[in-house]
Amino acid sequence: MEKIVSLCKRRGFIFQSSEIYGGLNGVWDYGPLGVELKNNLKQYWWQVMVRQRDDVVGLDGAILTHPAVLKASGHVDTFTDPMVDCRTCKARLRADQLAEKNGVKQCPNCGGKDLTEARPFNLMFQTQMGASADPASIAYLRPETAQSIFVQFKNVLDVSRKKLPFGIAQIGKAFRNEINPRNFTFRSREFEQMELEYFCRPEQGMDLLAYWLKERIKFYEEIGISRKRLHVLDVPEKERAFYSRGTFDIEYEFPFGRQELEGVAYRTDYDLQQHSRASGKSLDYFDEETKERFVPHVVEPSAGVDRTVLALICDAYDEDSAPDEKGKMETRIVMRFHPRMAPIKCAIFPLLRNKEALVAKAREVQALLRPHMNVFYDEGGAIGRRYRRQDEIGTPFGVTIDFETLGEKGEELRDTVTLRDRDSMKQERVAIKELPQLISSKIR
Ligand code: ATP
Repeated sequence: MEKIVSLCKRRGFIFQSSEIYGGLNGVWDYGPLGVELKNNLKQYWWQVMVRQRDDVVGLDGAILTHPAVLKASGHVDTFTDPMVDCRTCKARLRADQLAEKNGVKQCPNCGGKDLTEARPFNLMFQTQMGASADPASIAYLRPETAQSIFVQFKNVLDVSRKKLPFGIAQIGKAFRNEINPRNFTFRSREFEQMELEYFCRPEQGMDLLAYWLKERIKFYEEIGISRKRLHVLDVPEKERAFYSRGTFDIEYEFPFGRQELEGVAYRTDYDLQQHSRASGKSLDYFDEETKERFVPHVVEPSAGVDRTVLALICDAYDEDSAPDEKGKMETRIVMRFHPRMAPIKCAIFPLLRNKEALVAKAREVQALLRPHMNVFYDEGGAIGRRYRRQDEIGTPFGVTIDFETLGEKGEELRDTVTLRDRDSMKQERVAIKELPQLISSKIR
């Protein structure tokens, strides 16, 4: 994990937020490569979950949330972790994460046994709307994206004219005041979720739960996460939310242990019923065929963007060996991102920076590829070093413009380049005009 965290900082995937001021605990900034990776993930999710389907539409709800919404959803009263304070070192700890020695609970920081009773600690961030500071002006930063979907259910149903089963999808920020943010970005206080609420008839709930679990596993495979590091936990009844008839956690084997990436839950009609009761507005559905009116049930696949980015990074990290400039084998760090997820798809190298004709041709190739993909131009240093820098950030393809390209080694090679594959390190000679199609077909 240390190697991964250090690579993330060194190459600009993830930085600690407010680092120059000592950092803000549990909050992270994504650097130039991190934002590309994250965007690729979100776009692919949107592509698969919304655009390629007839039965799902999107929503982009507000972060600031009316307290009544979160009162009705149960968050105001029950979205809590039990918390204790250590009277010796003043650490604030999660009661379920205390160390235990000979049956006595201890502070994991200082070993102190003088702990306060456990108290519930609400995980929501509260803020004030407007100029006055009275209780009526309280608003919350949403702790999940799902609630705006439930609250807008009727509006979306009316405008989209969808028939059950259909879904509403959303990607966006969520905030939780986690007591112990830890494991790099895994447990953050500000993070992003990708959630789908898939509404259905009550009798379809269990089948759709199984359907979405399968779809979601397929998704992780399609973004390049190895199946053998993914696990499905069938959450036992006593650990499920009381309204859920079935929940699966999709877990990933992180270097710090097997942990949840996504929850796929059959939430029955709990959410719509709660909001319907609390708001006094009907959130039901009229089935034209059966002439029935009822409140739909819902199956929810809820994934974390940041956790998936972290899984992508952990899964991609690899070390092998490759020859240096003098042919001596050295360790190579290579991020084996699926080309679909890789932040940069193709690097473009003129063999020599001081040969004008090579540089001009390389700039031409860059302009040719740019409309199709994220490319990176690099003319600095020996070619082997340049390859290595791209391997370390997972760029799947590298194009080198050499004297053959200029036609100096025979007319038949004019306007051809070497195309290098990151994983096999093999190079093949291809015509420049074939590059856009050739690479595009591998990154979609
Ligand atoms: P955990 O048990 O790990 O706290 P959870 O079961 O509370 O997670 P959900 O409420 O089901 O999480 O949220 C859905 C998804 O949102 C999670 O699977 C995870 O990917 C993401 N998520 C939740 N909390 C955090 C967090 N603090 N930091 C980053 N991602 C989070």
